[in-house]
Amino acid sequence: MIHTRYKMLFSWPVFILLVSIVPAYAAEQSTPKNIILLIGDGMGIAQITAGKIVKGQLNLEEFKHLGLLTTHSQSALITDSAAAGTALATGYKTNNKAISVSADGKPLKSIIEYAKEVNKATGLVVSSSITHATPAVFAAHIDSRKKHSIIAEQISRSGIDVLFGGGRGYFIPHTKPGSKREDDKNLLAELAEFTTVIQTEEEFNRLGQVDSVVGLFADKHLPGADKRNPGLPGMTEKAIEILSKNKNGFFLMVEGSQIDWAGHDNNQDDIITEVIDFDNTIGVALNFAKKNPQTLLVVTADHETGGFAIHNGSIADKVVSESGFTWTHHTAEMVPVFAYGPGASDFTGIGDNTRIGKLLIKYLQAARQ
Ligand code: MG
Ligand code: ZN
Repeated sequence: MIHTRYKMLFSWPVFILLVSIVPAYAAEQSTPKNIILLIGDGMGIAQITAGKIVKGQLNLEEFKHLGLLTTHSQSALITDSAAAGTALATGYKTNNKAISVSADGKPLKSIIEYAKEVNKATGLVVSSSITHATPAVFAAHIDSRKKHSIIAEQISRSGIDVLFGGGRGYFIPHTKPGSKREDDKNLLAELAEFTTVIQTEEEFNRLGQVDSVVGLFADKHLPGADKRNPGLPGMTEKAIEILSKNKNGFFLMVEGSQIDWAGHDNNQDDIITEVIDFDNTIGVALNFAKKNPQTLLVVTADHETGGFAIHNGSIADKVVSESGFTWTHHTAEMVPVFAYGPGASDFTGIGDNTRIGKLLIKYLQAARQ
């Protein structure tokens, strides 16, 4: 009798406790089906702070798992976007200027290649040329970020499902206006044989049901956040809509490319405009993740730019009135990483930027089993 009573008293509460805890734990620990990596190029903590002062509430504030990353490259304390991007995309350090190749020139496999192996859809959305260092590390392997024409050829052959950004000049032959190539190759025409190619805001707005698309909306970089159309939030929303049709899930990288350039220019107002645009883009990803809880969002930067600091302003008036820069290049400051969704707790604490590539690739390899 005592035995039975103990069972009644203890086994039911324990059972109820377990059924309530285990699913929450499992959801937190499970392998994400979809991964969206959002990179703010040159976005340090001061840049985010300036954006928050002016915008008020940031979408980033919904992320509860935060960490800090060291950003040095293999060749230098101060990284460039190629080496830092390679660390994020492959999990390995390399020299500055290298695009997903090791210091001795061997290709380093990127997240996109792992994602394709498990039949996930893939995409890159940027506000720079699509051949620029940050997107290039996900789609190409080459010793120098400056070889845009070759990077464009590798991107064309990559089989990435959605490409949105600038850089059309690297995809059209030298005889065409706006071309940045020195040969006759017409990569856009080659791409058009097996995917939808669009080049204007109008074509973007009337893009129907497609499984893949290449949208290059400028010969080189897209305009600044207050002038570009389509904008980064709109391109991200469209990319997610297309990629999420894949039943195996997707990997998408989105870059706020121009936060970095505003830092190089020591232009506080452009930093704020670009950070707010990037946060609006994060909001688009967050909306999808809330409706699709098997989605992991990771937001980080490749490095800080400008040694930016805020000196005066007002929360009430939403204004940064005085700020300063220590120089016009990148700094070695650690950058923040924010994670949301399954696996988010893996990103907390202080680590190195290679941790991002290693963790994301680990999730994709787990999806193979
Ligand atoms: Mg970049
Ligand atoms: Zn830079």
